[in-house]
Amino acid sequence: MIGKLVRDLKIPDQRHPEKAHRPDNDQPRKPSWIRVKAPTSEGYKETRDIIRGQKLATVCEEAGCPNVGECWGQGHATMMIMGEICTRGCTFCNVATGKPQALDAFEPGRVAHAVSQLGLKHVVVTSVDRDDLEDGGAEHFAQTIRAIRHRAQGTTVEVLVPDFLKCGPEALETVVAARPDVFNHNLETVPGLYPEVRPGARYFHSLRLLQRAKELDPQIFTKSGIMVGLGEDRQGVMQVMDDMRAAGVDFLTIGQYLQPTPKHHRVDRFVTPEEFASYEKAAYGKGFLMVSATPLTRSSYHAGEDFARLRAARLERLGA
Ligand code: SF4
Repeated sequence: MIGKLVRDLKIPDQRHPEKAHRPDNDQPRKPSWIRVKAPTSEGYKETRDIIRGQKLATVCEEAGCPNVGECWGQGHATMMIMGEICTRGCTFCNVATGKPQALDAFEPGRVAHAVSQLGLKHVVVTSVDRDDLEDGGAEHFAQTIRAIRHRAQGTTVEVLVPDFLKCGPEALETVVAARPDVFNHNLETVPGLYPEVRPGARYFHSLRLLQRAKELDPQIFTKSGIMVGLGEDRQGVMQVMDDMRAAGVDFLTIGQYLQPTPKHHRVDRFVTPEEFASYEKAAYGKGFLMVSATPLTRSSYHAGEDFARLRAARLERLGA
């Protein structure tokens, strides 16, 4: 029903619509541990030129990621396919909501070209939500995976996909059949905050998506993440960890939520590095193969190094 409303034109055609929910000026002060590198290095400029040259969008820029100086300085960019306009209006996200553009059939090839130019060992490909498309963009994801495999052999591929909430099971099957190395879908927050943080999504649907991906191909690593500092409590975070483990998720990421603009969901509080360390310890205790939990952790932050560690952890667990 929601999907129908979206398709039937409830999508405002503007770049920064009323995403705003809680205009807010009483933000807690940013603590000293939220420090980022300014995007000025030569490596940063080279990465930017390659991305611009291939006319690609990145979530690094669209989401205003605080790590862009560090990541792009090393040539690590996370490609965002299927346009820069999203059909959802999540209150934490800086990507514009509106009516998306038509798919660009040449985009998978340009992504693959950029991956090759950047010399990436591991690439993360994500997208906006495309509730306007019958398959949610699944085939476009699959084409992008295949194009990277063809052009940049040896590069491992991680997809960070939307929830395909309005699609049949074929959407997920299409993505999994293209055999990404990592299937990532973020739960983003605890279920109790979904109505205000992720209003167009369903917690248990997202969880089931992760579980089904693992069932379809147990060889593919599954990964999911949440932000903290949105108003959740520790017990809620523990419950999400248990739910993820029950769904067979291998790799958990937890990072501090930062408010992109005053119109977005407010920061409830800044979680301390010690609390992150305690989440990491608890998550390993629950059986995750890999955990990244720091204030600046993002889904794709250090994803290449983490993938290598993830693979090693699986082999170790298998006793190889
Ligand atoms: S953490 Fe991810 S989204 Fe942020 S700059 Fe790095 S690669 Fe881009």
